[in-house]
Amino acid sequence: MTWILVLLAVVAAVLLVPPLRRSILTGPIFAAFKKILPPMSDTEREALEAGTVWWDGELFSGKPDWNKLLAYPVPKLTAAEQSFLDVECEELCRITDEWDTTQLHQDLSPASWRYIKDKGFLGMIIPKKYGGLEFSAYAHSQVVQKLATRSSAGVVSVMVPNSLGPAELILHYGTEEQKNHYLPRLAKGLEIPAFALTSPWAGSDAASIPDVGIVCKGMWQGKEVVGMRVTWDKRYITLGPICTVLGLAIRLLDPDKLLGNVEDIGITCALVPANHPGVVIGRRHAPLNAVWQNGPNSGKDVFMPLDWIIGGTAMAGQGWRMLMECLAAGRSISLPSSNTGMAKLAVRGTGAYARVRSQFKTPIGKFEGIEEALARMGGNTYLMDAARKMTAGAVDLGEKPSVVSAIVKYHVTERARKVINDAMDVQGGKGICMGPNNFMARAYQQMPVAITVEGANILTRSLIIFGQGAIRCHPYVLKELLAVREADADKALRDYDAALVGHVRFSFGNALRAFFMGLTGSHFVAVPDVAPETRRYYQQLTRFAAAFAFLADVSMLLMGGDLKRKEKLSARLGDILSLMYLASATLKRYEADGRQQADAPLMHWAIWDAMFAAQNAFEGVTANYPNKFAAAVLHWLIFPFGRPYVVPSDHLGHEVAKLLIEPSATRDRLTADAYVPRDENDAIGVLELALEATIAAESVEAKIRAAQKSGKVSGRDAVQLARHAQEAGVISAAELALLERRNFLRDKAIAVDDFPQDFGIGQATQPDLRQAA
Ligand SMILES: Cc1cc2nc3c(=O)[nH]c(=O)nc-3n(C[C@H](O)[C@H](O)[C@H](O)COP(=O)(O)OP(=O)(O)OC[C@H]3O[C@@H](n4cnc5c(N)ncnc54)[C@H](O)[C@@H]3O)c2cc1C
Repeated sequence: MTWILVLLAVVAAVLLVPPLRRSILTGPIFAAFKKILPPMSDTEREALEAGTVWWDGELFSGKPDWNKLLAYPVPKLTAAEQSFLDVECEELCRITDEWDTTQLHQDLSPASWRYIKDKGFLGMIIPKKYGGLEFSAYAHSQVVQKLATRSSAGVVSVMVPNSLGPAELILHYGTEEQKNHYLPRLAKGLEIPAFALTSPWAGSDAASIPDVGIVCKGMWQGKEVVGMRVTWDKRYITLGPICTVLGLAIRLLDPDKLLGNVEDIGITCALVPANHPGVVIGRRHAPLNAVWQNGPNSGKDVFMPLDWIIGGTAMAGQGWRMLMECLAAGRSISLPSSNTGMAKLAVRGTGAYARVRSQFKTPIGKFEGIEEALARMGGNTYLMDAARKMTAGAVDLGEKPSVVSAIVKYHVTERARKVINDAMDVQGGKGICMGPNNFMARAYQQMPVAITVEGANILTRSLIIFGQGAIRCHPYVLKELLAVREADADKALRDYDAALVGHVRFSFGNALRAFFMGLTGSHFVAVPDVAPETRRYYQQLTRFAAAFAFLADVSMLLMGGDLKRKEKLSARLGDILSLMYLASATLKRYEADGRQQADAPLMHWAIWDAMFAAQNAFEGVTANYPNKFAAAVLHWLIFPFGRPYVVPSDHLGHEVAKLLIEPSATRDRLTADAYVPRDENDAIGVLELALEATIAAESVEAKIRAAQKSGKVSGRDAVQLARHAQEAGVISAAELALLERRNFLRDKAIAVDDFPQDFGIGQATQPDLRQAA
């Protein structure tokens, strides 16, 4: 007994007396940690340090403060922003015809381009003092979303200049001269920007670009100056073929040390006028037949002055840091917004189509199989919009949410892909045959572009979300890593010791909480004043957050630097974090929308789907753990009574699907700000009118069916039957007119286009792309 007490006292002394602990315990651990830590390149470090931690940090803490989530202000538009959305944006949608854009002009029409430039669409992020619109991130997101419900060329051509590129880089890092020269011209569309980073040899690994600038002397405007001789070969550059100013990323080398003592200065961004001698530009790629401008550009030994470097010579070599710092804002807005827009278009049009189109004498939207697809479309779109809005709101709060921006980029585009695939399946041949009557095929065709750009999705999921999240969002890991880089050895050990003690406490705390919440079904978790129907979700999310934080710690402990290479495990850990973020956004939306009971099925579907997927991801991690014993213990600890979630129920799916196939305030909220003209000659407009007519006609049809059953009327087909019913007094003349109007609109809505044998090539100006290549 005595020796046990002595042993406990020794252990307590080691643990509780910091100097003793440092010399006996944490010192040796620190030494080992330094040895096993994989080397970190400067570009990796800059990527990790860029941006801010936001709600993702709360989730990673294992104890999210729900009051904080609920207190984040709900983004709102100013009167001027709302008016721009309702007037200018609406008008641009009206004058931009997707079919003419792609088939006739092979670009936006001259009228659409003129309107975009004149109304300042290209300067949404530029401050008013430079002539821009100075919109909030949320307003920017709303505009992009709306344009995406109308035209892919329209949205991409507007989105790119407002995303990471010349304007944003000049705004943050440009010299006064660069700001005063370029920003007013960019705001008014007098300059068209493009940003060229990607090369044939450096895509995802963009930091390895081989494009170089050699610092040297040369002639510039009649004088010998120190400048740079630049050689580059870029591809996939959006707006490249028509740009007037090219933001060019190169590696700057100074072999003669004309600028200082460093030979490899590093990645540098420069602004190169497209008409500068030696710049080769103008040819186009055909990215899945999208007609927004995209192409390669190059230059060989092109001499240019150093003051073309963004920020001047002082910012030479800072290019990667600049790009990483600015990435979060653009990635939070562009693709999440445009892809939510595409999903809204899919939901609005396909829901209507599913009611208007009948087979087996039944609207196809009432078949269970179609209901299943519609439910996925509705639930996913509700969640995507929630995540888009909450994330744009974060940017307006001054956040540069690097991990969150990767989460929304990946998950919103992946869900958009699912929504659009479902829409295509529901529409059948109508979705496949292209022409002015097809509103879905262009989105379907171009979906892989969203998946590939701004961080290709597989890479984003496998390497970025958890890889960056674990270091940035974890309350202690970054502190431990920074201790390794600390030059003062004493301070380094003290910092490491403090971080490690906190880390161990954090980890054990989360393990105990996760286990307790698992045993008690998380019923005792305190929840703020939220809609009663969502209470359990907050409790379950708290449980999942604690389990995730513990699982992340154990994974890092067992696999250390190897976790970076174990991308499948890292991806699944990232999925759990992401799904908790998406579920949080969904709950936030439900509160912000005023707890709309009619929308509840959408919210429930989205949460069940996310929680079920998160649960699968937990199991995907533990089932593939290299250490099977640890895996079994972890699984038991996280799910002591088995799996709490199943797929969203069929009944819930039925409730969601119903919301998509008839007009209602819920359907309007779900597809808010989609461009829906009330025009029977427009592919979406006619569906909207046909949907209303179909529903209005249903009671008339019921009367006719009853009369037919009782033998009162008969007819060869539905048209004749309706006429006989009117003659027999079963329905009124007005009701017959209503049926005939429905038939007209339905036939127009289900029509597909056909073309001459040669697709009209004989008369068109379309070039033969194979000859031109
Ligand atoms: C239409 C279009 C427009 C574009 N616009 C621009 C632009 O304006 N400016 C610009 O600079 N660039 C632009 N890009 C380039 C775009 O950012 C790159 O295509 C993207 O970075 C991916 O590079 P890559 O296509 O060479 O694919 P690769 O890098 O070759 O990747 C191929 C696959 O490997 C995966 N992968 C790569 N590394 C890893 C890893 N470590 N772990 C797991 N998976 C990995 C990727 O996820 C991807 O699935 C555009 C591209 C396209 C197609």
